[in-house]
Amino acid sequence: MDDKSLYAAILGVKEPWAVEKVELRLVDGEVHVWVALPKDTVWGCPECQAAASTGDKQPVPHLGIDETAFARRHQYVSVVTDLDRSRVL
Ligand SMILES: [Zn+2]
Repeated sequence: MDDKSLYAAILGVKEPWAVEKVELRLVDGEVHVWVALPKDTVWGCPECQAAASTGDKQPVPHLGIDETAFARRHQYVSVVTDLDRSRVL
């Protein structure tokens, strides 16, 4: 298994998304993973398939991924954040 496939499996990256690049920075104790869509991807509403706005296209250099539970129930949500701009994506 190559490093892209390994990180795709670890992060649960599924088509149309793909791990484009993995960079191990041992000195900093970091792994940088680039996840991207094919350039011709068109976003659509999951219910009616209408083309959707792609909105903010700014790159997110530092992505935070965390999981939290709802009020002590066994339902979890993954929260993806832009660490540099302190915003939920
Ligand atoms: Zn719709």
